[in-house]
Amino acid sequence: MPPNLSKILYHWGLQSEVYSFAAKSKAIQISRLETGVLLGTHDWDEEVLRETRGEFLFAHLADLRKMMYDIAIGQGTTIRLDATAVAVNPEKRTVILASGETLKADVIIGADGVSGLVRPVLLAEQDIQEASNPSLCMYTALVPQALAMKDPQSKKFFEPEVVTMFSFFGNNESVISHPIGGLSSFSFCLYRPWDGFEDAPADGMRDALKQVEPRLKNLGPMISSPRRYPIFDHPALDEWVDGSGRFVVVGSAAHPIPVGSTQSHAMGLEDGAVLAKLFSHLSTESQISDFLYAFQDLRQPRCETVLASERGIIQYMSMPNCPDQEMRDQGMMALAATGTNLFDVAEGGEESPEWEEIKTVFGYDAEDEADNWWVSWGLLKQRSLASAHGS
Ligand SMILES: Cc1cc2nc3c(=O)[nH]c(=O)nc-3n(C[C@H](O)[C@H](O)[C@H](O)COP(=O)(O)OP(=O)(O)OC[C@H]3O[C@@H](n4cnc5c(N)ncnc54)[C@H](O)[C@@H]3O)c2cc1C
Repeated sequence: MPPNLSKILYHWGLQSEVYSFAAKSKAIQISRLETGVLLGTHDWDEEVLRETRGEFLFAHLADLRKMMYDIAIGQGTTIRLDATAVAVNPEKRTVILASGETLKADVIIGADGVSGLVRPVLLAEQDIQEASNPSLCMYTALVPQALAMKDPQSKKFFEPEVVTMFSFFGNNESVISHPIGGLSSFSFCLYRPWDGFEDAPADGMRDALKQVEPRLKNLGPMISSPRRYPIFDHPALDEWVDGSGRFVVVGSAAHPIPVGSTQSHAMGLEDGAVLAKLFSHLSTESQISDFLYAFQDLRQPRCETVLASERGIIQYMSMPNCPDQEMRDQGMMALAATGTNLFDVAEGGEESPEWEEIKTVFGYDAEDEADNWWVSWGLLKQRSLASAHGS
């Protein structure tokens, strides 16, 4: 959970609940994948993070989801599980379920992900082609702490004095790994070129771990059921709001981010926070479409920036061996040799993609953006409508 996500939860008064299942990340350590040679470290500066008003946290998605579910239920929300939608009609504002039941609503929010029902319909309407070939794939697995601690090499992941994200840069591949939440297990994600093989993630992962540094290599046998996901460069939708003005699409259905990106869930949560802020001002039905179009205006540029940054980070980490890669590695090692934090920039120096992320991506406040829109536009329109109706 990057700071731009955690700050929303904190605004909602959930800091202590979040702390009950999340671990605060204090540092990132970057090494070469093949040898483990340290390229550098970055200790998150408390002051920089305080500026962002959030924190960098590690958590299991299931814990975050459970917290959100309990809160929604506690607020009186009805959540229906096992309710597959088979058709959406924005004009009639209806959703038809697989059971045959028809639901009718004032506004419909399509949040059914990149493989859901609404995205293909909107892509076809907007004449956008879906990506057909994956560029990379990602292997992912969890390693139990109890197993890793038995191995003299792998236990080093749990031993640092501060909770650390470990990143490994390899030749056309890279790894991101970190402890999860209560530190009972270790998350392991490996990016590699897509090789087309379909059904043997365990074999593929074992193969990938043959030529890597010892701490990671020894994790291999501890991984029992890895998964593998293709990484597509899915296009974002041009229009997120249907012509009816009563149907909007959010999350990865609207703006897909490569699988496993740090910002994936943050983008969904920011979407939710902006919608919630806008709709907190709802007093007449006619505002619904205004709010949905405002939502798109606010969110589209933000998601484009984040998407470009997340894609850039994967490419940066997985750069093939080449002169640029050597320059990158040597630059990092030179900084580390002077005891400088990796992403800190010397005056006049070029900013790394990570530093760009810290400034623009972590610093963003979704709720402030929605408040600003309301003060600059929404309120004015409400007042002009009120005076037109003589009230
Ligand atoms: C291996 C892996 C690792 C990841 N790691 C990270 C990470 O480290 N950090 C991070 O932030 N994100 C991570 N993600 C999240 C991911 O990248 C997505 O961006 C994120 O799940 C998108 O959220 P979403 O809510 O938009 O869509 P989804 O999570 O896809 O949710 C869509 C929901 O809609 C439901 N649905 C679909 N079709 C229908 C239908 N017809 N009727 C009813 N319901 C339907 C689905 O069941 C699902 O519950 C990871 C994902 C994967 C697969």
